Amino acid sequence: MDERTGLPVVGMVGAGQLARMTHQAAVALGQSLRVLADSADDGAALVAHDVVVGDYRSLEDLRAFAVGCDALTFDHEHVPNAHIAALEADGVTVHPGAAALVFAQDKAEMRRRLSTLGVPCPRWAPIESRADLEGFAEQGGWPVVLKAARGGYDGKGVWVVSSLAEAEPVLASGTPLIVEEKVTIVRELAADVARSPFGQGAVWPVVETVQRDGICVEVLAPAPDLDDETAEQAQALALRIAQELGVTGVLAVELFQTADGLIVNELAMRPHNSAHWTIEGSLTSQFEQHLRAVLDYPLGATDQVAPVVVMANLLGGPDDVTPKGIDERVHHCFAHWPDVKIHLYGKQFRPGRKVGHVTALGRDLETVRRRAHEAAQYLMFGDMGLGDASATAARHG
Ligand code: ADP
Repeated sequence: MDERTGLPVVGMVGAGQLARMTHQAAVALGQSLRVLADSADDGAALVAHDVVVGDYRSLEDLRAFAVGCDALTFDHEHVPNAHIAALEADGVTVHPGAAALVFAQDKAEMRRRLSTLGVPCPRWAPIESRADLEGFAEQGGWPVVLKAARGGYDGKGVWVVSSLAEAEPVLASGTPLIVEEKVTIVRELAADVARSPFGQGAVWPVVETVQRDGICVEVLAPAPDLDDETAEQAQALALRIAQELGVTGVLAVELFQTADGLIVNELAMRPHNSAHWTIEGSLTSQFEQHLRAVLDYPLGATDQVAPVVVMANLLGGPDDVTPKGIDERVHHCFAHWPDVKIHLYGKQFRPGRKVGHVTALGRDLETVRRRAHEAAQYLMFGDMGLGDASATAARHG
């Protein structure tokens, strides 16, 4: 409790853009997010008042950070699960708790649990030896997808391999792995929900997440031409997973849409890139909802406020182009696309790094998508990437 305001203090471990945007939501609730940052330069550390620089791998640092927090939560899933369990044993309120979070930390645990629940997943197996991989590929054939059981993000830790020889370097690295069938994906979707400790659930419209090289580049809300039945099925599935796993806070369920229906790819138990569009596009943003959930406040309405909302990630371009001139580009972007909302994360620009996003709202998918795409291209590269925009628009045409 903050003595001055009488309002709760939420501590977030990690101080990247998710913490930065959660802080932004906290401000409106009369709060100030407390962040455990790796460094004083982290995106959230630059803007929050209550910053502790420390090591999320150190139980001592975590214990010191938790003192005075009404609830502890996370901007990433890398905090050792045993440390989270130890904090809970100390009496710290942690959301999501260790028992739930393990399913977002370890892909083998996640696959095992979801399979038990009868949730559709790719065919998969844990890999302990070359023989395990050979056996798996013998049944379903090559190529297969190898994944680091822990620590992957943005496609780092995912390898599509066509033979044992190709898998060799990954196997030799000693990283604990799982293997999955290579699913024929029609498109990727996400069903984002929140659940409070009280047990209240809330769900946003199902979105399409457009990926390039394993990184989400664009989110379309709602997922275009998704039939009501499949959308409701995805939402019900995500709410059920949240309940069965005891998730508290935001849960993102990444899905593959296939010719045979929906398959769960991944779970994230924190605010997620697939729901950044909710900041302007929903009555309650995922960041506010996450705070409400971890504080066990009643959850907010999740109605989409425009027929079409498109979020485009700003992926850092070559160093010599950005951030030099970024201020001028923001200026021109505001002038060209006054309806497009810009979010910059205060991060250093590096090729391929998520340094911000833009959101556009409107009625017509093609128009909204083009505006978001052009604004994003312009901000990053100083041109409008028209070739790319028409190519991606054509896919949905
Ligand atoms: P990360 O944890 O790095 O986000 P994901 O498991 O989400 O990794 O995989 C990243 C991307 O790789 C997915 O968005 C999808 O495009 C592709 N992918 C992952 N698993 C499979 C699979 N079993 N079959 C086909 N493509 C896959």
